[in-house]
Amino acid sequence: MADTTPIDVAIVGAGIIGICTAFKLQEAGRSVVLIDRKGIAEETSRGNAGAFAFSDVIPLATSGVLQKLPRWVSDPLGPLTIRPEYLPQITPWLMRFWRAGWPDRVASGIRAQSALMRVARSEAESLIANAGLESLIRRDGVLELYGSEAELRGTARDDAAKAAEGIEFRHVRGAELAELQPGLSKEITCGTFIPKWQTVQDPYDYAVAVAKAATDRGASFRKAEVVQLRPQDDGVIIELSDGSAIRARQAVVAGGAWSHHLTKPLGDDIPLETERGYNTTLPGYSFDLKRQLFFGGHGFVVTPLASGIRVGGAVELGGLKLPPNFKRADAMLQKAARFMPGLVTTGGKQWMGFRPSLPDSLPAIGFSRRSRNIAYAFGHGHLGLTQSAGTGQLVANLLTSAPQPIDMSPFSPQRF
Ligand SMILES: Cc1cc2nc3c(=O)[nH]c(=O)nc-3n(C[C@H](O)[C@H](O)[C@H](O)COP(=O)(O)OP(=O)(O)OC[C@H]3O[C@@H](n4cnc5c(N)ncnc54)[C@H](O)[C@@H]3O)c2cc1C
Repeated sequence: MADTTPIDVAIVGAGIIGICTAFKLQEAGRSVVLIDRKGIAEETSRGNAGAFAFSDVIPLATSGVLQKLPRWVSDPLGPLTIRPEYLPQITPWLMRFWRAGWPDRVASGIRAQSALMRVARSEAESLIANAGLESLIRRDGVLELYGSEAELRGTARDDAAKAAEGIEFRHVRGAELAELQPGLSKEITCGTFIPKWQTVQDPYDYAVAVAKAATDRGASFRKAEVVQLRPQDDGVIIELSDGSAIRARQAVVAGGAWSHHLTKPLGDDIPLETERGYNTTLPGYSFDLKRQLFFGGHGFVVTPLASGIRVGGAVELGGLKLPPNFKRADAMLQKAARFMPGLVTTGGKQWMGFRPSLPDSLPAIGFSRRSRNIAYAFGHGHLGLTQSAGTGQLVANLLTSAPQPIDMSPFSPQRF
C-alpha cells in the first residue's frame, strides 16, 4: 500500500545530480524528498577529482582517443582498459561509442555540450552564491602538463573549444611553468594554464553542503532502496525494497550508474554503462601542490583538497559488479611520483567510483517515454560535478513547465 498523502517531487539518488536538482526545485517553489539507499553522496559523487571542468566539451570518443585505444586497452594498468570478462556485455556500448567518434557526431556533440556547459557555469555560480558556498571553492586554475611540444600541439582542438567559449588560457614553459608548479620532473616540458578553472575544496563536503542548503529550504531525505517506479495518471508510485511504497506527484531518476535498472521497466532501454575510475587520497603534506595538475596523456589528475592530495582518474570498463583492481590506483601513484619527484606516496586511501556514462558523452535529461510525471537526470560521465547545478535547473524547468534556455533534444533519453 502506498502512503496516502502524496509528496510533491521524489528524487531517486542523492548523488550530486539529485542533490543539486533538489536545491533547484526547492528554489523553484517545489517540495522535494531525496531518496537514496546509501545516504548523501556516498557513491561516485563522494570521491571524484573535484573539478568544474566547464571547458571540457570534446566527446570522449574523438578520433584521438579511438587511435590510442588499442595501445591503452592492451595495457591493463593504462589510462583506459576493458576487463576481459566484461567485453561481451560492453560490446554494444563500444559500437555506439565508436559511432559517436565520427566527425559529424563529434561536431554536433561539441555544440550540445558547449550549450550545456554555458548553463552549467552560470547555474553553478548562482547556486554557490545563493547557498553561500564560496568558501568551498578554489579559484586558482589548473595546469595541463605535457612531455613534449608535439603533445601540446595535439591539444589544438581543445584549445579551439576553450577559445570559442571565451575561456582564458595560455601555454607555459620554463620559468613560468616552474613558478606555477615547482618541483616537477624535467620530463614535463610545457603546459596549458587555465587561470579561472575552479575546483571544490572537497567534492563530498560540497555535496553535503548543497544538500544542507536544500534541506534548509524544505527538502527532506529518506534512506531507502527504490525497486520500481509505477506511473499513474496523477503521479507516480515508488516501490521500496522493504515492501512499502510512496506516492509522489512527480519523480526524478538521478541514480547515477544504476539508473537504467529503474528506466528499463518504463520502456526506456538506455545504453548506460559505467567508466570506473580510481584514485588515492594522500595526506596533505605529501607534496607542495599549488593547484590542480592534469596529466592528460596519462589519464590522471592531481588535486589539492581540504582532505589531502588526490591522485587518480583512468577509465576501466568493467560494469557494476566486478571487484575493484586497485593496482590501477597504485600505477597512477607511481606515475605521479615519476613526474612529481618528492611526492610522498605512503599513507594514502584508495577509492573506486562508477562514472555513469552514455556513449556520446552527453547526459540523459528529459521525460520518460511512459509518463511526463517521471524525469531522468543521469549519464554525466566525467562531468557530473561540473554539470550538476545546470542539470538541476534544467530538470526544475521541465517539472515546472518553464522554458528551457537551450535545445534539449541532444539530451533526450530516447535519442538512442
Ligand atoms: C575518479 C573520478 C573522478 C572524477 N572527477 C570529476 C571531476 O573532477 N569533475 C566532474 O565534474 N566529475 C568528475 N567525475 C564524475 C562525477 O563524479 C560523476 O559524474 C557524478 O558523481 C555522478 O553523479 P550522480 O549523482 O549522477 O551519481 P552518484 O554520485 O553515483 O549518485 C547516484 C546515487 O543514486 C543512488 N541510487 C541508485 N539507484 C538507487 C535506487 N534504486 N534506490 C535508491 N538509491 C539509488 C546511489 O546510492 C547513489 O548514491 C569523476 C568520477 C570519477 C570516478
